[in-house]
Formats: sequence, structure tokens, C-alpha cells
Amino acid sequence: MGRTSKDKRDVYYRLAKENGWRARSAFKLLQLDEEFQLFQGVTRAVDLCAAPGSWSQVLSQKIGGQGSGHVVAVDLQAMAPIPGVLQIQGDITQLSTAKEIIQHFEGCPADLVVCDGAPDVTGLHDVDEYMQAQLLLAALNIATHVLKPGGCFVAKIFRGRDVTLIYSQLRVFFSSVLCAKPRSSRNSSIEAFAVCQGYDPPQGFLPDLTKPLLDHSYDPDFNQLDGPTRIIVPFVTCGDLSSYDSDRSYPLDLEDGSEYKYTPPTQPPISPPYQEACTLKKKGRLAKEIRSQDCPINTVDTLSQ
Ligand code: SAM
Repeated sequence: MGRTSKDKRDVYYRLAKENGWRARSAFKLLQLDEEFQLFQGVTRAVDLCAAPGSWSQVLSQKIGGQGSGHVVAVDLQAMAPIPGVLQIQGDITQLSTAKEIIQHFEGCPADLVVCDGAPDVTGLHDVDEYMQAQLLLAALNIATHVLKPGGCFVAKIFRGRDVTLIYSQLRVFFSSVLCAKPRSSRNSSIEAFAVCQGYDPPQGFLPDLTKPLLDHSYDPDFNQLDGPTRIIVPFVTCGDLSSYDSDRSYPLDLEDGSEYKYTPPTQPPISPPYQEACTLKKKGRLAKEIRSQDCPINTVDTLSQ
């Protein structure tokens, strides 16, 4: 594949590089803000699952504070520094990371918590949706510790079969919950964003880190929400309808007719998980295994040991 073909197939990927964003995801947050004015009055924000950092770039440029520590970015992966953004490397489903984030906001709560977290997808939809939901619940748990009343929480969700359960859980804490799909998020993806505004926990609610995150058991009956506990949230598409369609290929020369010039990525990942496979491939040590002789095109790349 030529290095320009991705620019052609994915206009947001190309525009991200040309506008200095580290990832095309920047447009998702910008389009969500266009619709919901997420950044209005915000001076302190948390960006969970932040690497490579395009949402943190947007936050550091758009919100009031600007000083170091007004945006706290957290990810499993190392992230190149961004001016004004304090970074924590850790797993948001772990107590130690949650504590570190919460500590930072003690006495000075946040106005906005965003989470664009995605697990490494397995292709097994139920597993992927479950993992995604766990990330979202871990993020919500952290949000309940750091958000000020009236604050806002935005998190990636997979619109799978059990998504109404998540909406119901979110509605317990926020006066408004919507599901939003920015134009830059591909239609072919089940990804969407829960936009939760007006943080308003139930009376007497005490944020609790002793039952955090992944260490809880599921009560199957609890999943069967119906009647008044079943919630159908509004679904909103956002981003100007005249903006680019993320599922279309565009010619390399955009409207203004200027000549196309390749732009390299703004900030390549520091040590991505696929680096080892790339190194092995360069050295010709990435083995190809034929799984079935009946079906020779069904091959799979495996790492040679
Ligand atoms: N919003 C980011 C941006 O604009 O650059 C892109 C986020 S990317 C789609 C998803 C990120 O979630 C990955 O960087 C991954 O490392 C992170 N992630 C997944 N599980 C995590 C976890 N348990 N704790 C912290 N980060 C996690």
C-alpha cells in the first residue's frame, strides 16, 4: 500500500496530520464540542485513555486554565509530552491509578472527564463490548470522585446489545445522557459517545473505591432492566452535515485545488505494541502459517519465536 492511499481513504487521518493533531480522534472531540459546548466554562479536565494524545491537545488548547495540571491525561501507554498537560501512565481499571488521579483533584474538582478508551479488540463482539463497558465503568467510577456538581462526562461506548444497561447506570449520576455519533466516527463502527451532562449523584451517594473497577461480581438479574429502570436515550449525530464523511474516499486534491503534499504523522507512538511485529517483519522473521491446506488463502501472520 502506498503511503498516500490512507490519506485518500481516510480524510480525517489526513486532516489530522495537516492540522497537527496526533490522531484523527481529535475531530471526534471537536465535533462533540460543536454540538454540546463541552468546553464552555471548563478550566480543569481529565483525559482518560489519552494516548497518543489528540484529545489532550484539543483540551489544552480549548479550555480556560492553560497552566500545567489543568488537564490530566492518563493512559497505559507512554505519551509524548504536551504543554500544560500532566501525564499519568497507568491502567484506569486499577485502584492505584484511580487513586493517583483522584489525589490530583482533591479540593479542586474537575469540570469535565473524557474517556476515549478502547480495549484491544478481539473480534468477539460480546467480549469486546464487555471490555469496553468495563473501561467505561472504571472511567465513571473515577469521574464520581473528581467531578464537580454539574460537571460533564463523555465516554466512548460500543452500541451493543446491552448498551441500555450502561445508559441506565449513567442516568443515575447525570441529569442528561445522550448517545452521540460524530461525523468523523465511521458509520461502519459500533463506536459512539455517551455525553453525560449535569453531574448530580443520588442523595447520600458516597464515591467508593473499595468496590472499584474490575473487582466486582455480576448479578445476572441486575442486567435485566425493564419497566421504569429501562432507559432509552436520545441518539444524536454531530458535526456539520456538510463536513467530510468518514466512510468515503476523497481525491487527494481537496476543494481548493491545491496540489497534494504528503504530511507525515504529527507524533508517532513512542513504543506501540505492534513495534515488535514490524521489526520482525523487516528482518524477514515474521512467519506466515498456513492454517488449512484446503483453503490456502486463509493464512495468518504469527510472530516467529
Ligand atoms: N483519545 C486518544 C487520542 O485522541 O489520541 C485516542 C485513544 S485510543 C482510541 C484508546 C487508548 O485507550 C489507547 O491508547 C489505549 O492504550 C488506552 N487504554 C485501553 N485500556 C486502557 C486502560 N485500562 N487504562 C488506560 N488506558 C487504556
